[in-house]
Amino acid sequence: MIIGYGTIDEVIQSGTDLAIISVGSIEQHGPHLPVTTDWEIATALGEGVAKLIGGFYVPAFPVSTNREHMGKRGSAVGMSPDIFYDMMWDICVNLKNQGFKKIAIIPAHGGIFIMNPLIRELNATFQPDLMAAKLDCSEIWSEFFTEGILESKTELHAGEGETSLMLHINPQSVHMDKAIDWIPENARQGDLNYGSIHRYCPDGVWGNAKCATPEKGKKMLDHMITGLIKQMNRAFSLMENKQQIGNSWF
Ligand SMILES: [Zn+2]
Repeated sequence: MIIGYGTIDEVIQSGTDLAIISVGSIEQHGPHLPVTTDWEIATALGEGVAKLIGGFYVPAFPVSTNREHMGKRGSAVGMSPDIFYDMMWDICVNLKNQGFKKIAIIPAHGGIFIMNPLIRELNATFQPDLMAAKLDCSEIWSEFFTEGILESKTELHAGEGETSLMLHINPQSVHMDKAIDWIPENARQGDLNYGSIHRYCPDGVWGNAKCATPEKGKKMLDHMITGLIKQMNRAFSLMENKQQIGNSWF
């Protein structure tokens, strides 16, 4: 059950102390996917996790940080990392003040680099009263190739994986006739610190979008949802089983 879409009485009566926040991004996803891609994937992941384990699902946040997509009009609707940090901090404190003890955050966009310091600082400040876990899709992504779900392992953006996910989640929004394959020859992920993705990938695709299928997307989504729940259980059990060290719960 996704409590977040119900009434306030349903949220209260559920007795849950877990809040689930998934975070997307509004940014270019090549010529074939909508700018809402990460938001739609964030929604599918957050809903999927909440359906299996319960919890107060906060509808996915559409915007975050995405400077690496700057360069085309409408391709990077986001905010600066410090503002995102403050916004998330405020919302987590707000949830804590309403009695939530656990917050699971699912970033469905790879460019939210401020997420790690945010999680660490929340836990260092508020444990044991609040525990925050980051459920990391990128940890699971490498398994898609080794388990034979995806054919390519070079995707960084809008390639086989993201396109497959969108063919499964929202097929009408995908223009497969415009899908392209593009792997930049002399670029690596860290180069996005030096320039926008458009410097290395003119169409904004870094990966092989042409071989995407909805079947791959469904397998990916199911695999990610169970993988994220495993990560979450592990993180909360690590935190729940801690004892105070000196004057610190962290
Ligand atoms: Zn994306």
